[in-house]
Amino acid sequence: MKQFKSFIGYFFRDELPIKHRLVNVILGSALLVQFPSLLVTVLVDTEIQGIIGQIFIIVVITVVLYLTNKFPESPIPAIVISTTANIIIFPILFFMVGGSGTGIILWMLFGAIFTWLLVDIKWSIIISVICFIMFEGCLHIEKVYPQTVLRLATREDEIMDTSVAFILVTVVFGLIFKYQSYVYEKQNASLKANDEALRNLNEKLEETNVRLESANAAKSSFLASMSHEIRTPINAVLGMDEMILRECDDKQILEYANDIDSAGHQLLSLINDILDFSKIESGKMELHPVEYELFSVMNDCYNMIFMRAKRKELIFKVENDPDIPAFLYGDEVKIRQIIMNLLTNAVKYTKDGTVRLIVGFERIDADNINLKISVKDTGIGISEENQKFLFNSFQRIEEKSNRNIEGTGLGLSITKKFAEMMNGDIGVESRLYEGSTFFVTIPQKVADKGTIGSFSDRLNRRNERTEGTDADSRGTDKRDKFTAPHARILVVDDVKMNLNVVRLLLKNTGAQIDLASSGEECLKFTMMKSYDVILMDHMMPIMDGIEALHRIRQQGDGLNVDTPVVALTANAIVGAQEMYIEEGFVSYLSKPVKSTDLEECLLKLLPEDKIIREGDSDE
Ligand code: ADP
Repeated sequence: MKQFKSFIGYFFRDELPIKHRLVNVILGSALLVQFPSLLVTVLVDTEIQGIIGQIFIIVVITVVLYLTNKFPESPIPAIVISTTANIIIFPILFFMVGGSGTGIILWMLFGAIFTWLLVDIKWSIIISVICFIMFEGCLHIEKVYPQTVLRLATREDEIMDTSVAFILVTVVFGLIFKYQSYVYEKQNASLKANDEALRNLNEKLEETNVRLESANAAKSSFLASMSHEIRTPINAVLGMDEMILRECDDKQILEYANDIDSAGHQLLSLINDILDFSKIESGKMELHPVEYELFSVMNDCYNMIFMRAKRKELIFKVENDPDIPAFLYGDEVKIRQIIMNLLTNAVKYTKDGTVRLIVGFERIDADNINLKISVKDTGIGISEENQKFLFNSFQRIEEKSNRNIEGTGLGLSITKKFAEMMNGDIGVESRLYEGSTFFVTIPQKVADKGTIGSFSDRLNRRNERTEGTDADSRGTDKRDKFTAPHARILVVDDVKMNLNVVRLLLKNTGAQIDLASSGEECLKFTMMKSYDVILMDHMMPIMDGIEALHRIRQQGDGLNVDTPVVALTANAIVGAQEMYIEEGFVSYLSKPVKSTDLEECLLKLLPEDKIIREGDSDE
């Protein structure tokens, strides 16, 4: 029984196309029909030709059934079955088993309809037309040459044959339609099951997505707090170190302090890189376009790189097209960071020779230019096969030879992302052991029609002026020196070390400084004394800096309702500056605070009559 089932199952397996299975149904039914039909033919005692004809049909059907299942993909069996049945077998049967008065007419109709079920439309039309011609031909020949038709013995036999044909054709049709609707329902059920499975999968994907998003948010908040946690101690280290650099005369100790300073700044730039990277990754990095002076950007980069290049005894040159518009509109901070990243790398990966910054432009129209920045070095270079990995995150090239050079492999990928954010482009040309040139093109708006002039000429002129006015200056500290002994400043921070750092950084100004180690203490001070400036940390336990600021503003008859409050914080995440300004702070200084930034900020905020500039005191 099992074997019989699997034998039948073989003809109706799911991987067979539905048309093919129908062919099997037809052939199977035809075989089933042919055996009783043969029996009837024998019983009604027809001529021997009739019996031979029926046996011939059984053999043909079996062969076709075999071939069809041997080559299941081929459309040929269906066409062959259709044509042989309609054009050969049925017309022969017409003449052999009684002509139009018998069941053969029903079989011919059955064959014609089946053609449409089995083969494609083109073949259906062709076969049907031939079928019709054959059918009409058979009837015509029967009418004109009745002797060509082998009649059944009696009229009863004819009626019997027609009845048997009627029953069999009905059964075969019924079977086919039933089988078709069974397949259709089965397919429908499996589609529904697939649908359900897809819906489940979708739900799972959505869940995973939510989990991923929350993991990403957790990563961002981890990075933000990590930056805060690391910046706070670095603030203390660099601040204290600066005091040593300012106040110590011992050469050896100064050397140690210089090392601490450079390692501290390296650590800081590493944290900044990781933060920038995470901001870019989470799509939170935004552009902040402003009007800026290109000379000032180039000058900042020059100042920052000059000493590093000098320490490695490299020649550092800046060249520019003097016709570049002097004032541009774009994201100044990111442009500075792009130039700094490329220059830092050039100095890092060059042992001797020259590092060049070349700034040019290409006019797009009257109001827009393409700013073209190239950084050229005579360093270790990058092999051609490594150049394609250059802008990948966390990928360092020539790791073996570079292992003594610190880096994270993030700088160039950040630089590329910045350039792309500004609709710009970055590229490299390099030869191993000969040097590299990185070029960046960034579209910028022109803010002013004036031109920048030659950078080196302007630099030389400025240096001459500085030397003329400040004979003592060794070019290291170009700060606007001032004191403010009558100024009253309140510093609020929950970390004692940070309070000390700010106090020491402000020591030279001679200002009167109060230190509060919590929001509550700050409120007590502000009730008692009026301050010129308040420097306020953000993250403090119990009452944070923002709440403290709001409370100061609400103090009835308060002495400091209008005092400018500066956020002094290690929070360096995206949009921090905007957030602090929105909360009511006048400005924002990120830790570790540089004494220059702090002094610059005070110069802006302190009342002019409380500031004594260096020149003023001599008068
Ligand atoms: P890193 O922090 O390692 O410097 P970057 O993304 O800035 O990361 O650079 C990726 C790699 O590209 C570096 O590790 C270095 O191998 C190579 N590279 C970058 N700039 C230069 C250059 N000017 N000369 C030679 N190799 C460079």
